[in-house]
Amino acid sequence: MKTLHQKTALVTGGSRGIGAAIAKRLAKEGANVAITYNASAEKATAVVKEIEAFGVKGLAIKADSADPQSVIASVDRTASELGGLDIIVNNAGIAFYKDITEFSLEDFDLITAVNIRAVFAGSKAALAYMGKGGRIINIGSCQAERMPTPGGALYAMSKSALVGLTKGMARDLGPKGITVNAVHPGPIDTDMNPADGPHADYERSIMAIPEFGTGDDIAAMVAYLAGPESRYVTGAGFVVDGGTNI
Ligand code: NDP
Repeated sequence: MKTLHQKTALVTGGSRGIGAAIAKRLAKEGANVAITYNASAEKATAVVKEIEAFGVKGLAIKADSADPQSVIASVDRTASELGGLDIIVNNAGIAFYKDITEFSLEDFDLITAVNIRAVFAGSKAALAYMGKGGRIINIGSCQAERMPTPGGALYAMSKSALVGLTKGMARDLGPKGITVNAVHPGPIDTDMNPADGPHADYERSIMAIPEFGTGDDIAAMVAYLAGPESRYVTGAGFVVDGGTNI
């Protein structure tokens, strides 16, 4: 029996990168999987086809994470079209780097809306459908703990906020048998952080394993946290960063 047989998952920002890898891995484990996207409609459709190739149901929903009502609607649509919701992976995220003197209030509002408020709104909406065995998994960053370069104040702030949100929600939901955990990726080769990008050599220079990871490296940890074997793990953060932060 597959570990996620008869489970339903929603992965936000599943059209590309880490989210797409997570969505496909959860489908491989037997879950029906919905993904949200904002701009990449064609890529989202292609990911759904790959999900369905595992013999499960797939669904792509356009939902801008900057708009909490859109996030809430995506949760409700997942539950109604796929028959419930057991797992939410809050993956959609944005990153932009500037000197602190250059950041605007609009930058602050956007990064907090997508990287923090959407996680709160989506998770809260998902709780209307989740019972014992429910799973909330937040994708943070190794930069929540350590910021080795200039320019990342708002991004680091947004990801460290998820550490507190994860721990607080874990306390509230533990008695209901719902776990809440965070996964903190290091350099993963995606559009956000390409392995041949301008900062890649520096990133490799501070890693114990001097190579970029793949979305599958993150998806493996998410699959464990989504499955039954992690039932006693909650409020925790798992750094998957090739040894960047050690
Ligand atoms: P990408 O930029 O490659 O992909 C981002 C995904 O999120 C896309 O599917 C995109 O969809 C979606 N997305 C972005 N903005 C929105 C929005 N407003 N509403 C809905 N969906 C949105 O990023 P990664 O895959 O690299 O990153 C995924 C997560 O992992 C993020 O939270 C990121 O902060 C985190 N992370 C990544 C690291 C890395 O090295 N790659 C390191 C540490 C953390 P669309 O194209 O449709 O807009």
